[in-house]
Amino acid sequence: MKSAIFDLANPDSLEQAVSALSQSLSMGKVLAGGQSLGPMMNMRLAQPELLVNATVLKALRHTEETAQAVILGAAITHAEIEDGRVPDPTGGLMQKVASGIAYRAVRNRGTLGGSLAHADPAADWINLMPLLNATMRVVGPTGTRDIEAAQWMIGTFTSALDDNEILIDVSIPKLSRQACRSYYKINRKPGEFSEATAGFLVDPLRDICRAVIGATDGPPLSLENEDAKALITELRSGRIGVLADHALLRAGIEKDTHSYQLHAVAMQRAVAMLDSEKGKMI
Ligand SMILES: Cc1cc2nc3c(=O)[nH]c(=O)nc-3n(C[C@H](O)[C@H](O)[C@H](O)COP(=O)(O)OP(=O)(O)OC[C@H]3O[C@@H](n4cnc5c(N)ncnc54)[C@H](O)[C@@H]3O)c2cc1C
Repeated sequence: MKSAIFDLANPDSLEQAVSALSQSLSMGKVLAGGQSLGPMMNMRLAQPELLVNATVLKALRHTEETAQAVILGAAITHAEIEDGRVPDPTGGLMQKVASGIAYRAVRNRGTLGGSLAHADPAADWINLMPLLNATMRVVGPTGTRDIEAAQWMIGTFTSALDDNEILIDVSIPKLSRQACRSYYKINRKPGEFSEATAGFLVDPLRDICRAVIGATDGPPLSLENEDAKALITELRSGRIGVLADHALLRAGIEKDTHSYQLHAVAMQRAVAMLDSEKGKMI
């Protein structure tokens, strides 16, 4: 099928983009690489009257490195992250995660911001950004606001973005040299969406211990500090005990299901990775 007819706006500024979206009365959509929106429009699951091209906006292509963080524009592609063409605040973890997204043709066009706005629980950035405690900066008719990654995903395919808001960029704190981090996803074939995701971050210099369980039916579950430490200790013993059991239940994954087994394995492998050389910062 082909998409319904739509108008395309190539705004010169964020103000123009927001204004175009606002005037379209919820019938407008931001277009990034079109990797999700394109198929949805072709199947007529989405029929926007107006597409506002985000890839022409300089603010969304901007990258910046400060002492504390790396800021990546929303229209930075997975391929740019994979190739190291933008700074990586995680010492290579983001590069590795990017390389596991879909296949190269999709990565060439798919964007960090498009993926986050799409809010597919089985996607990668939606699960990694809470682990890294990233902050999303969005702009709408009343100005800009910051949204923490933990509050970003509200439900399946639903983010905290309003209809007439645009994700500008993502600020990702730099990990310290002592940090260990891991991210493990289970999928049937390389490049497919995840069936079970788990990630851990231990950063003693920044006093952070965090766990994320993703690819659930909704937002990822984050565990902080003592809860995360206890879970890691239990998983290091090689068994799925009460803490892992409880975490999976909180993540909405029912016991004795296929999904439970996959998530349990993802958590165990992510902890093993955390303790291996692969999990250490270079
Ligand atoms: C075959 C295939 C396999 C895939 N496998 C994976 C995978 O393994 N892991 C993974 O993480 N992803 C995967 N994806 C998703 C893909 O990587 C893209 O990230 C995702 O489709 C978003 O694409 P996009 O950036 O082109 O955004 P678009 O498709 O252009 O937009 C997606 C949605 O986000 C909105 N949007 C886009 N940018 C903004 C913005 N700046 N502000 C506000 N709203 C915005 C759009 O309006 C739309 O609703 C796969 C996709 C395909 C087609």
